[in-house]
Amino acid sequence: MYKINDNCVGCHNCFSECPVQAIEWVGTKYEIDPDICVSCGLCAKVCHTQSIYDTDAPDDVIYHDPVTMHADVVVAGCGSGLVAAVKAAQAGKKVICLEKAKVLGGNTDYAHGFFPVYSKWHEEAGMPDAREEAIEHFDKETDGILGKDVLRTAVYGTGEFFDWLCTLDDVHKYFRLVDLGSVDAHGPIYGSGLIEFKQRIKDNLNCRDDAIGPGWGGTYVKYTMLKTIKEQGLDVTILTEHAAKHLILDEKGAIAGVTAEDPGGTTTIYAPVVILATGGFGKSDEKIKEFKPWFFEGETKIHRFSVPTDTGDGIDMLRELGVEPVKSRLFVSMFGPKHHPFSNTLADIALEPEMLQVNLDGKRWVNEEGHLFGMTPLISKQPKEISYSIQSLDNIRMIAERFINNPAFASKKYLYETWYEELEDESRLDTPVKKGETIEELEKACGMPEGSLTETIRRYNEDCQKGADSEFGKGKAHMVPVSDKGPYYAIYGQRFSEASMGGLMVDGQCRVLRNDNTPIPGLYGVGDATSAMHRENALAVISELTWAVCSSYVSGRNAVNYIAEKEVD
Ligand SMILES: Cc1cc2nc3c(=O)[nH]c(=O)nc-3n(C[C@H](O)[C@H](O)[C@H](O)COP(=O)(O)OP(=O)(O)OC[C@H]3O[C@@H](n4cnc5c(N)ncnc54)[C@H](O)[C@@H]3O)c2cc1C
Ligand code: SF4
Ligand code: SF4
Repeated sequence: MYKINDNCVGCHNCFSECPVQAIEWVGTKYEIDPDICVSCGLCAKVCHTQSIYDTDAPDDVIYHDPVTMHADVVVAGCGSGLVAAVKAAQAGKKVICLEKAKVLGGNTDYAHGFFPVYSKWHEEAGMPDAREEAIEHFDKETDGILGKDVLRTAVYGTGEFFDWLCTLDDVHKYFRLVDLGSVDAHGPIYGSGLIEFKQRIKDNLNCRDDAIGPGWGGTYVKYTMLKTIKEQGLDVTILTEHAAKHLILDEKGAIAGVTAEDPGGTTTIYAPVVILATGGFGKSDEKIKEFKPWFFEGETKIHRFSVPTDTGDGIDMLRELGVEPVKSRLFVSMFGPKHHPFSNTLADIALEPEMLQVNLDGKRWVNEEGHLFGMTPLISKQPKEISYSIQSLDNIRMIAERFINNPAFASKKYLYETWYEELEDESRLDTPVKKGETIEELEKACGMPEGSLTETIRRYNEDCQKGADSEFGKGKAHMVPVSDKGPYYAIYGQRFSEASMGGLMVDGQCRVLRNDNTPIPGLYGVGDATSAMHRENALAVISELTWAVCSSYVSGRNAVNYIAEKEVD
């Protein structure tokens, strides 16, 4: 019999794959209905977080005596860490990769894109080199907190990484360069051109929801690294279910190796370089409680996307050496209200400004023109931190058609075209969408006090007629009245957390620093395990995956240089 444990992150892959629709959403995760399941095992094959298990499967742990190994470089963590492994191995180094999970990829497998400011593609297209401008821009954006040294590594390193990636595969098949028309900030992108991932790699997945991987830029990097190891015959050994535990230092305080634990015993690897690419701490309740106690305040459990193995092990290893994380450089994400992790099509519709955001008291609570990030502090104050996004079918159709006919979404048109089926399907499930033929029926279905939603809509429609939102000042263009004619729908939204990031302070060479800012020789930090791009309550100014792949590339390259210098000494 198959079951789903609490590590499910709601990526929908099993749900889309099950041939008999035995998988349904319950609370904040999927569950298998044992009365419908035919034990085919397909769902377990597509589960990236290994959350689905066969209760009848035998215990396959192989117990062993302590093992000793030797390498030039150990990479702990096989998300973006695989980039460092390949880079170092290409220089002839013997690399051992430790991966705590049964599968490779970490959160990298979920992430959509990374964004070089300038690469050979930009150069060939005659686009201006905006890297110095970008450093200035990001420095200003972050009030100098990150430091230009690290920002320079991020901005130049990502371009170098991308140029290098182009030597490993026919990257043109997967990415395109989009001219943004001006040298400027475009979200986490600075410059004149966006390197965009063209289309999701679906493998065998039936999944139609493109909000969350696997299959985007991060997955592509993972596959390209694994392909390169094979094609170039690189000396890279990957040990899955091996969690790095303790760093070993020599008498001078330099890295001498690392110990790892697997279900069957321990392994000690002696190596002059360890690269910590162990990810963030998004699945560690203890660390989130310690660093951001407010996270668990509130009535509705916050859905978290991080893979179950991202528990901030880099922080633990550094703490053993007496190095504490800098709390102001840790980022615990929390966004909402979002219709996550249900239909992404409906999630997009729900946040359009013509919808009404209504709380469980049946009252509007926000100007719906606001951005999701700006709404988060406000949704946190609503009853149970829940909002329903409400409109009549006619108006939802109008919004859906706008998406369908928007040339910018041409590649996703097929997702929007099924909006009605998705709305109807979800209205038959427990949580995601409520439906009423009348407003009174909808109000009841949402559990709002009698008369509350009716009064909210009456007032809103009156404001629409006057052309002025008396409650929140929403713009006239978005004041679309709720029609007299039903049916009416309420799309559920709540807070979610993508990941929690940070821990290790690194310098521009990605060397891990002690609290006195001196580097620990031979120790490098990558991606979410580091605080390089993170500040309290603020997203990374360049995207998180951008820093992850870039810092991994830079760490792999610098590790090789470090070993060469050490050999000269
Ligand atoms: C749902 C989701 C969507 C996202 N979308 C985007 C996006 O679109 N754009 C973007 O820029 N960023 C995005 N991010 C963030 C991005 O995925 C991460 O910033 C990035 O992938 C981090 O890479 P990493 O290698 O540092 O960590 P990970 O990819 O998480 O890799 C860490 C690896 O280390 C392993 N590990 C942990 N502890 C140990 C140990 N002790 N020993 C050995 N192995 C260990 C883990 O199992 C994991 O495989 C998203 C994140 C999530 C969760
Ligand atoms: S993580 Fe994804 S595939 Fe795994 S159980 Fe949850 S929804 Fe299914
Ligand atoms: S084992 Fe097969 S039938 Fe059962 S839930 Fe998984 S995919 Fe569906």
